[in-house]
Amino acid sequence: MQIIVLLKQVPDTDEVKMDEKTGTMIREGLQAIINPLDLHALEEALRLKEKTGGEVIVVSMGPPQTEEALREAIAMGADSAFLLSDKKLAGADTWATSKALSKAIEKIKDFDLILAGEKATDGETGQVGPEVAAMLDIPFSTYVNRIIEITNDGLIVSRVVEEGYEEQFLPFPCLLTVVKDINEPRMPTLKGKVKARRAELNLLKANDLGLAESEMGLKGSPTRVVKISYPKVSRNTRIYTSKNLDEALEELIGKLKKMALI
Ligand SMILES: Cc1cc2nc3c(=O)[nH]c(=O)nc-3n(C[C@H](O)[C@H](O)[C@H](O)COP(=O)(O)OP(=O)(O)OC[C@H]3O[C@@H](n4cnc5c(N)ncnc54)[C@H](O)[C@@H]3O)c2cc1C
Repeated sequence: MQIIVLLKQVPDTDEVKMDEKTGTMIREGLQAIINPLDLHALEEALRLKEKTGGEVIVVSMGPPQTEEALREAIAMGADSAFLLSDKKLAGADTWATSKALSKAIEKIKDFDLILAGEKATDGETGQVGPEVAAMLDIPFSTYVNRIIEITNDGLIVSRVVEEGYEEQFLPFPCLLTVVKDINEPRMPTLKGKVKARRAELNLLKANDLGLAESEMGLKGSPTRVVKISYPKVSRNTRIYTSKNLDEALEELIGKLKKMALI
């Protein structure tokens, strides 16, 4: 089976901060990692390859340092990697991201399956997987927690819904976005790390995509971050150090008693 995995590099933190003035993410000082849910997509692709043969190709759009994430994916077992990186693609919203990724996928190879994470921990929209499928005009399923069966012409999958689980059949080629319950991602092996260090990554530029400049990056993004604001929490707060913890507890208990809460 020819499997493409969409993999995004994200800041290594759950607390993504936004620049209120520019409306962009503050990435300075943050380590970058593979989006944790994408590791589950990659693991599932590797397991399918082990069962059926074929190839696992990882694809990412991002700045040049995304190369590290792609090498890590090769160390885990991916066969090859494509990095789509170009200043013309910067500032892309989910629409422009999905358009660039789907054009890149069309250029790369015929495929049976695309796997993506349920969502990225920074942007967190969960839109890119379904958008890519729509742009490629292939069926998709989201929140997939199990691949039940591989048939000659498609997959039977289980997906998480509000009331429980739903089973769906998807003919090839198709796209799945996966949840973390689907598997436990493997660690890279030493042999894999050596292979990854030597691997030639395939680099794609904006001009390789056959898109007009007006369809790329910020210019091709129909959404705009108009304003960002954080909810203001106004509480009378006192911070105690461990030295006067007894005093703090006494005061807290006194206040709770006054409020008839204890
Ligand atoms: C107006 C606007 C401006 C923006 N400007 C910037 C900016 O300057 N810099 C910036 O970093 N972000 C920017 N973003 C955020 C950017 O749009 C999203 O990070 C990106 O489109 C992916 O969306 P998401 O993070 O919500 O991914 P989700 O839809 O939550 O991701 C789901 C899955 O799709 C796949 N996927 C998502 N993105 C990629 C990718 N790039 N490569 C490969 N696979 C992927 C992964 O498998 C992932 O698990 C901007 C957003 C808006 C609305």
